[in-house]
Formats: sequence, C-alpha cells, structure tokens
Amino acid sequence: MTTTTNTPVVVYGPNIGHGGEFHVHAPGCADIVRGRMRDQYAAERPMAFDAASQQDVVEAVYADIMAEGDADWTAYASEFSFFPCCKLRERTTG
Ligand SMILES: [Zn+2]
Repeated sequence: MTTTTNTPVVVYGPNIGHGGEFHVHAPGCADIVRGRMRDQYAAERPMAFDAASQQDVVEAVYADIMAEGDADWTAYASEFSFFPCCKLRERTTG
C-alpha cells in the first residue's frame, strides 16, 4: 500500500451505551447532531483525528495500553462500533 487516504473521525467514549464501547463517527454525522444520541454524546468529550483505517483508530485510542502488552489491535476491536458514516477500511495494510 503506497497511498493512504486519511479520513477524519470523531471517537466518543468509553462507556457509550453498555460495556465500555467507543463509537466512531464522521465529524458532523447526523447521528450525533440529532435526537437521543445527541443527548448521550453530549456528556462525552470526543477525540477527533484523522485515521487511515479501523486499525488506526483502535491503535490511536489504545496506544498506551498496547505499548504495555503483547496484544495487537484486534484484541481491542470489539470495543469499537464503527458507523457507516465514517468510511474506513478495516486495516491499514493488507
Ligand atoms: Zn455517524
């Protein structure tokens, strides 16, 4: 992979809904702006950055934890809900 297109994402969490989940949306996503989800997200401080993939998001959020352990990003991927608004491929490479 020689070309990488970074996609802006907004990551809310942890503890969105149940079970320590992170929710990953595109900036300005309608899910965030309207309705019940807005109220839920309003209490959270989102992380906003550019990501090349879902792997990128997981590694960015769990960088400190991953640095101390042997598990790779897939061990934490289940903590994340990637919504269709952020069109991220799964992995940075391959
Ligand atoms: Zn969304």
